[in-house]
Amino acid sequence: MSPEEGFAGARRSMVELQLRARDIVDERVLAAMERVPRELFVPERARDHAYEDAALAIGSGQTISQPYMVARICELLALTGRERVLDVGTGSGYQSAVLAELVSDVVTIERIPELAERARRSLAAAGYGRVDVRVGDGTLGVRERGPYDAIAVAAAAPGAPDSLYEQLKRGGRLAIPVGDRQSQRLEVIVRSPEGPAVLRSVPCRFVPLLGEEGFPGAGADLSEGPEAGEAF
Ligand code: SAM
Repeated sequence: MSPEEGFAGARRSMVELQLRARDIVDERVLAAMERVPRELFVPERARDHAYEDAALAIGSGQTISQPYMVARICELLALTGRERVLDVGTGSGYQSAVLAELVSDVVTIERIPELAERARRSLAAAGYGRVDVRVGDGTLGVRERGPYDAIAVAAAAPGAPDSLYEQLKRGGRLAIPVGDRQSQRLEVIVRSPEGPAVLRSVPCRFVPLLGEEGFPGAGADLSEGPEAGEAF
């Protein structure tokens, strides 16, 4: 068996055992997760662990998200194909690649320039060179490319940043882990004429969203979701 065949088998198992067997039901999300070569988004020494049910270290104290959390965020955004999506916290670029399988236009922003540069290279190598990778404070969004049908935030925030809510189209959805630095709950905030409508999803634990409308200071944590022992 070639390494590619081995990774493809691991990817199919990941979809069946970590996603479908839990509660991911959106077939487009499941198909996207089965297409993106996650091994290209982890450091070379960690490739054999790429399909584990966990977040993995990618350097600079940051992580590639657990596959389940990537799928869960994508599913909560209820994407159909022609949307423009902003992905805040590029990290490895993996979530951006999954989003690029789901929609036509993906913009992503990362505060650490080295990670953004590596993600840009990984995305190009995996065939997702059309993803627009920016460097900056993602709590402020990327106003010049908005408004967005959906915004995914893969870092924990004390609350949904106003700037991100303002860059949603009417009816647009923002998925974001909200809580303190230790534990959060994934929330979906829908922009409506009556104001934000909030739906609550699974408990989770992400690295902090640092910036003007996020947490002050620095910190890192390798755990993210059900693998950390939270109820599920
Ligand atoms: N979803 C990513 C993936 O699949 O690789 C992983 C995201 S990682 C859990 C969170 C990322 O958010 C880190 O790379 C971190 O540097 C970034 N981040 C934290 N605060 C940010 C901010 N204000 N703007 C942009 N990126 C930020």
